[in-house]
Amino acid sequence: MLGLGALAAPAAAQGSLNLYCSAQVEWCQAAANAFAKETGIRVSMSQKGSGEVLAQIRAEAQNPRGDIWYGGTGDPHLQAAEDNLTAEYRSPMLDQLYDWAQKQARDSQYRTVGIYAGALGFGFNTELLARRNITPPACWRDLLTPPFRNEIQMANPQSSGTAYVMIATMVQVMGEEAAFDYLKQLHRNINAYPRSGTAPVKAVARGETGVSISFVHDVVTERLGGFPAQFALPCEGTGYEIGSMSIIRGSRNERNARRFYDWALTPAAQQIGAEAKSFQTPSNRSTPVPAEAPQMSQIRLIDYDFAKYGTSAERRRLIERWDREVNSLP
Ligand code: PLP
Repeated sequence: MLGLGALAAPAAAQGSLNLYCSAQVEWCQAAANAFAKETGIRVSMSQKGSGEVLAQIRAEAQNPRGDIWYGGTGDPHLQAAEDNLTAEYRSPMLDQLYDWAQKQARDSQYRTVGIYAGALGFGFNTELLARRNITPPACWRDLLTPPFRNEIQMANPQSSGTAYVMIATMVQVMGEEAAFDYLKQLHRNINAYPRSGTAPVKAVARGETGVSISFVHDVVTERLGGFPAQFALPCEGTGYEIGSMSIIRGSRNERNARRFYDWALTPAAQQIGAEAKSFQTPSNRSTPVPAEAPQMSQIRLIDYDFAKYGTSAERRRLIERWDREVNSLP
């Protein structure tokens, strides 16, 4: 009996970790399992979109239930930092990261950090477009043309960080008034605004819609899954995400949250993304970039102003404006 107790004690002493995850669910699960196996910490994982986790952390602020928020687009992580919903932590791993990932930490007074990057673009179903005689989109302006009527899906920016990156990108590419004019015209060609940023890509893969506005690394995942999906990068230039991670303020398992945070910045942990068929560009300089990942250096990226578009007031204002002026249209 004594022997058993002595054996059980160390595992129990490791305690638990409540992980809120906004990356693809396969990656979330694989990361949770690998961390639990390595440390003996019990991990309970729930996956939700970036905007949804932000809303949940806000609702739970007086009595936090989550410990760490892993993955999802950077803007809502920055908003959480500004709104004092997440905790400062300077990981000893920071030096190993690319500057874009460290900048995310500096911009937030060390309340968040970049874990991966990925570019926004179009996904399309090659067979479906060929059958309908539609030339795949090459530019943002193409999406407004009649062949794409009811043919496009993008996520809802209230729940999806991906969709907010799209709106902030259009504002930075065109200026705000022209961007909202664009979004209103685009609305005619949109058949649905699902909650999750990955839903439009999955709909493309399954032939439910011709085109998605989504992260292009997600399209690679579907293509490798055997679906007739391809991606294109908008000729006018495009925005990108710095997928991020934050410790929730008031976490009951802060020691374990810090342990997960340091672990998630190691090359070994970052490779779990590619193993789970997620092809973002990892933030540790020593993590191999997956061969399948869209090459960020080859993409015409805008100089996305994360500090501005991640502020609480700006993000809230743009999403509310979209809801009022675009989502309300018939
Ligand atoms: N899907 C992919 C491929 C991503 O890289 C990310 C964000 O980091 C998300 C989804 C986030 O999902 P959502 O747009 O639902 O917040």
